[in-house]
Amino acid sequence: SLACGIVGLPNVGKSTLFNAITRAGAEAANYPFCTIEPNVGIVPVPDTRVEQLSIIVKPNKVQYATIEFVDIAGLVRGASSGEGRGNQFLENIQHTDAIVQVVRCFDNDDVVHVDGKVDPLSDIETINLELALADLEKVNRNIERLGKKVRSGDKEAVKTIEVLQKVLPALNEGQAIRSVDLNEEEKALIKHYMFITVKDMIYCCNVSEDDLPEMNNEYVQQVRDFAAKENAGVVTICAQIEQEIAQLDKEEAAEFLADVGLEQSGLDRLIKKSYETLGLSTYLTAGEIEVRAWTIPQDCPAPLAAAVIHSDFEKGFIRAEVIAFEDVIEHGGRQGAKEAGKVRVEGKEYLVQDGDVILFLTNA
Ligand code: GDP
Repeated sequence: SLACGIVGLPNVGKSTLFNAITRAGAEAANYPFCTIEPNVGIVPVPDTRVEQLSIIVKPNKVQYATIEFVDIAGLVRGASSGEGRGNQFLENIQHTDAIVQVVRCFDNDDVVHVDGKVDPLSDIETINLELALADLEKVNRNIERLGKKVRSGDKEAVKTIEVLQKVLPALNEGQAIRSVDLNEEEKALIKHYMFITVKDMIYCCNVSEDDLPEMNNEYVQQVRDFAAKENAGVVTICAQIEQEIAQLDKEEAAEFLADVGLEQSGLDRLIKKSYETLGLSTYLTAGEIEVRAWTIPQDCPAPLAAAVIHSDFEKGFIRAEVIAFEDVIEHGGRQGAKEAGKVRVEGKEYLVQDGDVILFLTNA
């Protein structure tokens, strides 16, 4: 499944946020994931469509789409050069699909800042530099390794080394590979290296509970301005409050949020932003046994979307009966939508759209 890695300097609120994530995951009952790594939290993606379909269908079971967060430990100044738990951090982070960088945007004299002063832009620079240095080391290593193949006339190696040379100056300046203008072919050539700075970044500003409900302060504004230049996402949360919310049941949580003047928890906003950033899309199945949201890439061909349910469904795909979510609701369910002529029969070429309610026919 798709995963976001959580990074940040020490004492910025990563563990507090991660506690909220794992609690929220455990809270959402009936997940088939019981034994997972201690640094992985799996949470449901909030989706009111699932609730609305459940009201109509009244299934035995309801299942939301999920997203994974991985707590990436050991990222400190010098991590890329093997100080601290550097290697473990590299191992963990390269397998994630996007990065959430927690940035300290709260003052609190009781919580020591590693650099002695709350300064979000300096913190971001430190972290981003470490990430760039880790990639730089890998680029240099592979340029050297490919050199032999290039000399023996390997065409693929020639093309690959050209891309590596192209990203090198940016990394040397501490900039991300994603800031380099690469075409699709170039991106494909270096994909297998799993570079860190290719992944999309979301800055997660951790503010004080005193900043509720606007959650805006001078630090946050600095991060927003910085992120805008990078085209990166920003989410503001108060990790402390999130940890408290995560311990409440659904109704208590809603009450708590209303009390502090919020409509949605910060965690829910972070989850949605991550889902968006990863370029994900959702389709739904609505049977009496289960109403369920499934995660797919945007514009996913129908057989591949079916394979998310069961790998045999790709080969065995016959056709898909598709109804737009709004039509299911408007006509009170699949039967009503059918009578109103709202069911489309789609074949192998169909690109599944966000909110499609689908019944797959397969011979698997
Ligand atoms: P980590 O080192 O990045 O994992 O940071 P922690 O989650 O352990 O947090 C470091 C300290 O900051 C702890 O004492 C937290 O209680 C405190 N802290 C984290 N988030 C908040 C917050 O939103 N508000 C306040 N006031 N303190 C926080």
